[in-house]
Amino acid sequence: MVTKRTEEKATPRVKKGDTVRVLLGKDRGKSASVLGVLPKRGLIVLDGLNMVFKHVRPRRAGEKGQRVQVAAPMNISNVQVVCPACKKGTRVGYRFDGTDKLRVCKQCDATIPTKKASN
Ligand SMILES: [Zn+2]
Repeated sequence: MVTKRTEEKATPRVKKGDTVRVLLGKDRGKSASVLGVLPKRGLIVLDGLNMVFKHVRPRRAGEKGQRVQVAAPMNISNVQVVCPACKKGTRVGYRFDGTDKLRVCKQCDATIPTKKASN
């Protein structure tokens, strides 16, 4: 895989914990929650989608190599945020509430809450 080095990228409008709908690729049409966002690479990792087999070598004698399924990152432009209020796939706008920058649904104007990162 080629990783392009680009200058500054816009902050992704998709955040960890969001529910998103996949628009392209083999998991097109499915929804999943966001496990992580890689802003510098413009990639996103979804829960249970874009699964790939990783081949794991045996580490100890007697142990067998395995194929393990892991979620691979996909391009952030392949997904669309699903609004928790109107349940539609939507673009995300911003609104300021005092000093707070809030994300809003472009369809119904509801605020899309950003879930606290829980590690
Ligand atoms: Zn909405």
